[in-house]
Amino acid sequence: GQSFAAPVCVALEVSGEGAVLPLASGRSDSWFANDGQITRRPVRALTLSALAPRPGEHLWDIGGGSGSIALEWLMAHPSLTATSFEAREDRAARIRENAATLGLDRLSVLTGRAPEVLEGQPLPQAVFIGGGLSPELLGKLEATLPAGTRLVANAVTLESEALLAQSRARLGGDLLRIELAEAEALGSRQGWAPGRPIVQWSVTL
Ligand code: SAH
Repeated sequence: GQSFAAPVCVALEVSGEGAVLPLASGRSDSWFANDGQITRRPVRALTLSALAPRPGEHLWDIGGGSGSIALEWLMAHPSLTATSFEAREDRAARIRENAATLGLDRLSVLTGRAPEVLEGQPLPQAVFIGGGLSPELLGKLEATLPAGTRLVANAVTLESEALLAQSRARLGGDLLRIELAEAEALGSRQGWAPGRPIVQWSVTL
């Protein structure tokens, strides 16, 4: 297959004024230029944990957005590779820019809609669905991916949440509901600002 050079991070500084890229997944959203469509830091950390990268593996990041999931996958180890599939050309271009900024050249970015855009691509060991979740996509993945492939899907709508509940009834795996709140100003005091609940399905096919 493909071979890639391996600069893992460009911002390694012990002292001085440069930004330092932290070692753990769930890095600040500010590392990933985005238009608001990004899996936010705490949810991204939980997603990388569920994806559970192992040396030498390849990831499909479906609905790449800013590319933050694929980019944090690549940061986990210099032997990892990934492909981001993104329907919108402007976002695909931004993913390429984010990869270049971070010095990560082990990422392929394809513009197009899943499931069609997946056709003929080298098979992954792990798949993340952050956009484009549909019965057709899940059916295509089930038919194509070998047993043992890990699949993680995040849902924010009732429709996609229902699809994940049905999928889990059929195929097993774990459903996790992620409900987080951040403290912010509430008048002169502080209160909890809850985010939308996210349902995450993780399964080994
Ligand atoms: N995980 C991303 C955010 C994903 S937002 C991040 O951290 O940045 C969902 C993305 O899926 C959007 O960019 C949207 O354009 C894309 N998308 C939606 N349907 C798609 C499809 N069928 N195929 C590919 N991408 C799709």
